Amino acid sequence: MKFHSTKNSCSAVTASEAVRAGLASDGGLFVPDSFPVLDSYVLQPDITYMERAIRVLKPFFGGDPAELRIEEICSEAFNFPVPLRWLDDKQAVLELFHGPTLAFKDFGARFLSEFLEKTCPEGMSPLTVLVATSGDTGGAVAAAFHKKRCATVRVFFPQSGVSDRQRAQLTCWGENVTSYSVQGTFDDCQSLVKHAFTIPGLSEKMGLTSANSINLGRLLPQTVYYVHSTVLFRERTGVAPYIVVPTGNVGNVTAAFWAKKMGAPIAGIILAVNANRTIPDYLETGLYNKRKSVATLANAMDVGHPSNMERLINLFPTFEEIRNEVKAFSVSDDQIKETIRRCYEETGEILCPHTAVAERVRGEQLPGMPSIVVATAHPAKFETIVEPLIGKPLEIPASLAEMLKRPRHEISITPDTNLVGLVQSDKVA
Ligand SMILES: *Cc1c(COP(=O)(O)O)cnc(C)c1O
Repeated sequence: MKFHSTKNSCSAVTASEAVRAGLASDGGLFVPDSFPVLDSYVLQPDITYMERAIRVLKPFFGGDPAELRIEEICSEAFNFPVPLRWLDDKQAVLELFHGPTLAFKDFGARFLSEFLEKTCPEGMSPLTVLVATSGDTGGAVAAAFHKKRCATVRVFFPQSGVSDRQRAQLTCWGENVTSYSVQGTFDDCQSLVKHAFTIPGLSEKMGLTSANSINLGRLLPQTVYYVHSTVLFRERTGVAPYIVVPTGNVGNVTAAFWAKKMGAPIAGIILAVNANRTIPDYLETGLYNKRKSVATLANAMDVGHPSNMERLINLFPTFEEIRNEVKAFSVSDDQIKETIRRCYEETGEILCPHTAVAERVRGEQLPGMPSIVVATAHPAKFETIVEPLIGKPLEIPASLAEMLKRPRHEISITPDTNLVGLVQSDKVA
């Protein structure tokens, strides 16, 4: 299996090459030349998550030396539960927040780190992983790579843009992980990282790569939970569900479209966005206008120019088809709050603000229809928003409690910091 760039102006590469590079050399994003078709074994309900992961992912690595390591990589990476929780006989919530940092980012980050660790040639110097984060990605990547020999990690987060619990998950590491609080916004963090890739010679010298969702190694493992949950859904109800995905940078929902393309039983896919309306406006007008992001209660989805939009558009030959297949709806902060309160009262399910965006869209667009809402983070990560709405304190999961107790290390920098010195320094805070 080969992968080509969405910009189509560099040669095709294997999965390993795509994962190591992060971004294609022409600046595009890697997408598969074709999609493997799911066989009857993968589509049966009675296999474990692990068995399904191995069978879904192996074909992408066909002809790649990493093919032989996929079983090991999956069994290290996916060692936590992935429950499908039923609200009634037709509506379910897919809980993707039972990994170490309590957000779905753990799936991609853990697969990526295990992949690099298991396929990194003996004696090779470590890669340098740069991550800009608005909150959840940085914690997941730091946790996944901590103490691995394959890479050193530098995390950049906006000094006053993350919750205290997110900050703990970003800064409780040390060893091969260094965390920088940038005196600026998430956009400043992203510019710092993007700039590093343009400094002549730095990328080759330091083995720079990105662990943001532009990296194929984060996207492929996310296809598995869509196959898994929709097969279980169909087994119980007899029909294929709609899927509603809380969306920011469009990585997670692209994985859902890839799973559908491979033959997962999915009736349709809906993007649920917060007040950042770039995508619904594009679908309505046909004009793609990137924006500055606006801050909302669902902060991990505050994206004005989603980087994986290129991959989504690449799946469809014409705008007409995009418009037929891709639906997107926007939800306000007031509606987020109202949905968290009401869902708890009616079903007992406690939603994080991101998941509430999707639950709201389900209620309005798919009333009573067979459907799965994707729950992307644990509500305890956003306790200052959720607790007043449900009127009781949330239990803190053990992995978070442990991280909150550890000493924190962060280095404060300005957005115009000289990255050459910083990336080459061995000093860890
Ligand atoms: C990252 C994130 C999202 C958005 O996912 P994308 O792949 O960027 O669209 C949604 N919810 C939570 C909790 C996240 O951390």
